[in-house]
Amino acid sequence: MMSFISYDEFIKQIENCKKCELYLSRTKPVVGEGNLNSKFVLIGEAPGKNEDIYGRPFVGRAGKVLNRALDEIKVDRINVYITNVVKCRPPKNRKPKTNEVLSCLHYLIFQLMYINPLKIVLLGSTAVKYLYDESFPYKKIPKEKKISEIRGKLGNFKAYDRTFQTYATYHPAMILRNPRLYEVFKEDLDMYLKS
Ligand code: URA
Ligand code: SF4
Repeated sequence: MMSFISYDEFIKQIENCKKCELYLSRTKPVVGEGNLNSKFVLIGEAPGKNEDIYGRPFVGRAGKVLNRALDEIKVDRINVYITNVVKCRPPKNRKPKTNEVLSCLHYLIFQLMYINPLKIVLLGSTAVKYLYDESFPYKKIPKEKKISEIRGKLGNFKAYDRTFQTYATYHPAMILRNPRLYEVFKEDLDMYLKS
């Protein structure tokens, strides 16, 4: 574990990381941003095109959906911490492969240990698959879970000796494909980030 390094040192490790093949296609890694003292960490899947250019999470079209929902529920984006399961953009925005997630996950776990949030909000199927109600290190590779069935229900992500409360909702990119889910998405965020 890397529990004794500073956050700046941690960022440098990601900037130099070549642990999986995604380093070959990245422009900038996206470590995450926000308040390191936040009670809430929001976790997406992976950087997309704009995130890869700017090195910041959720700054493209999906980010606009997230920003709109946070605005409407009156949560300041800078008061939460936002990151992704993997820190480098997969080619053509494909889903990260299992081996890529397993290579990268210790960075996310470092962030969770460091920030120690009260709640983790999982945005979409990839974050849900690996973090909703799972124990790390994994005994077996986690399975896909249906967001429609688990949203609103508390899960636990156990990482070594720590347990974090997890809650699931849709990925903002899913809202772009299916705008009727927007109200549900917003209500989920409202419920998760207000208590
Ligand atoms: N989609 C994600 O999962 N994460 C981002 O940062 C942007 C789009
Ligand atoms: Fe390293 Fe993660 Fe980037 Fe892979 S995705 S190169 S493990 S930082």
